[in-house]
Amino acid sequence: MISSQHMSNTPITTTTGKKVLVSGIKSTGRPHIGNYFGAMKQYVEMQHEYDTRIFIADLHSLTSVQNGSELAQATLDLAIDYIAIGLDPEKVTIFKQSDLPEVTELGWIFNCITTMPYLMRAHSFKDAEAKNKEINVGVFDYPMLMAADILIHNADIVPVGKDQKQHVEFARDTAEKFNRIFRGDGKSCEPENALFKLPDVHIIESVETVPGIDGQKMSKSYNNHIPLFSTDEELKKLVMSIVTDSNGGKPMNVYNMHKLFRDETYLEKLYTKNEGKYKILKEALLEDMIAFIKPLREKREQIAKDPDKVRNILARNGALMREKTHALMYEVRKATGLIV
Ligand code: AMP
Repeated sequence: MISSQHMSNTPITTTTGKKVLVSGIKSTGRPHIGNYFGAMKQYVEMQHEYDTRIFIADLHSLTSVQNGSELAQATLDLAIDYIAIGLDPEKVTIFKQSDLPEVTELGWIFNCITTMPYLMRAHSFKDAEAKNKEINVGVFDYPMLMAADILIHNADIVPVGKDQKQHVEFARDTAEKFNRIFRGDGKSCEPENALFKLPDVHIIESVETVPGIDGQKMSKSYNNHIPLFSTDEELKKLVMSIVTDSNGGKPMNVYNMHKLFRDETYLEKLYTKNEGKYKILKEALLEDMIAFIKPLREKREQIAKDPDKVRNILARNGALMREKTHALMYEVRKATGLIV
């Protein structure tokens, strides 16, 4: 543990000397290919370059999953999924958000320096309002807990799908605001006094937002998603039900999904050759999807045979994260006056 007497104002460096990458996914059901290509794939690709900390956002999940056994199962399942997609549990810190309870403390501190009109600018809130949905306070306040998730690690980089870009910007604003209020004169903060770094968002430009089977953004809440670990039969049913336009030519919904699995030079030829032949094109997509998903699913089945091993990884990493974020939280408490 880092001793509190030896803490400096400079952001915490890691024992590995690597920059810190933080991201997470809610355990609200099975992850889908939008989660994979938008976010999870980046985790795998970047895991060795960074001190990678990937969490299961179980506290965020509580805004929609309000059944204890369901949430616990979905959380364990997501930990298994993370390992199945290729995150190395010996190199990457896979942990449960709720095992680092200080994020709720930090989230509360951020609530106190954030205004309601500011949070009302969140796309997620605006969408809910436009649909006349009565949301809970957790959904409204979600960007502040997310800011705490990121800033508690003093993360350098946050890989997410495009839909989360605004939330990372909120985290940057919040870092800047905290620094200014509690480590500056209220108006500005000298760089050497800043406690929080401003994290950078990382989005795969070629992917941005993965479409669902109806062409809208793929999302569990729109029920248009393709679960990442689907069986071949499930994939067949879902791919064959992709909504296609009736104008002839290239079916864009099929093509936009297909380009996740194949390079576009190959696809251009395939789609030109089979212009208007939607069934053939869907079958080609299905074949490519199965070739990609089947090995992941089989690996997952192996990992799922030993859930206690996964539980142990989560417990060990939860403790590790509390230890690694302790020094920063000490500085937060000191700056805010919570230490007397
Ligand atoms: P969530 O399920 O909201 O916790 O999202 C987990 C991650 O998946 C976040 O980084 C999202 O940005 C990403 N994501 C979710 N849906 C999509 C999508 N349709 N396309 C691209 N990325 C997505």
